[in-house]
Amino acid sequence: MNTRTGQLYIVSAPSGAGKSSLLNALRERVDKLVISVSHTTRPPRPGEQDGVHYHFTPVEVFRQQVADGNFLEYAQVFDNYYGTSRLSVDALRETGKDVILEIDWQGAQQVRERAESVISIFILPPSIEALSARLHGRGQDSAETIQRRMRDAKNEMSHYPEYDYLIINDDFATALDDLAYIFRSERLKQAQQCQQHQALLNALVG
Ligand code: 5GP
Repeated sequence: MNTRTGQLYIVSAPSGAGKSSLLNALRERVDKLVISVSHTTRPPRPGEQDGVHYHFTPVEVFRQQVADGNFLEYAQVFDNYYGTSRLSVDALRETGKDVILEIDWQGAQQVRERAESVISIFILPPSIEALSARLHGRGQDSAETIQRRMRDAKNEMSHYPEYDYLIINDDFATALDDLAYIFRSERLKQAQQCQQHQALLNALVG
């Protein structure tokens, strides 16, 4: 029987900092970890699947879900709405897995207010030039969109002081190691170990 409730994590980054690639690699590396699938009103990009990358949701349905209180957090990012289903996060945590919310700073502020315990991580690019190159490198957006995303990225990055951990994604392997260390050390904390090893601790000192 599972006795542990999964820990909630937030990972934020400006667009182009390499967050999704790092989190996909992290999922392969660290066990008992799941990334929450958000709802969004934006249309799918080529290759994105409904229910896998996002729950693609019509704006009127999204608004109804907001009115029904279904979201742990939601925010407008660029021209679209994004939100995290409260029920699905709770259900994932009940399986004992740690849950990562891949959300922006606005959502992070709401979760910090509402969740009893959350660990937040901000991923930064190694330079403005690298960020700009990565945004151009995607090849999926117009020059105007890229310019706007640079402005939005600077705004997003200005919120780094609100986060518990900062990762600089210069070398991918190093950034991945750094992320994995955060999960490993957080799981070694006394409160986490007590949940995981209650029977052992009772036997040792009971
Ligand atoms: P994209 O459209 O490029 O996938 O994501 C754009 C931005 O929306 C990213 O900064 C991402 O972190 C943020 N985002 C994705 N899902 C959510 C969510 O559920 N809530 C909030 N607040 N932001 C989200």
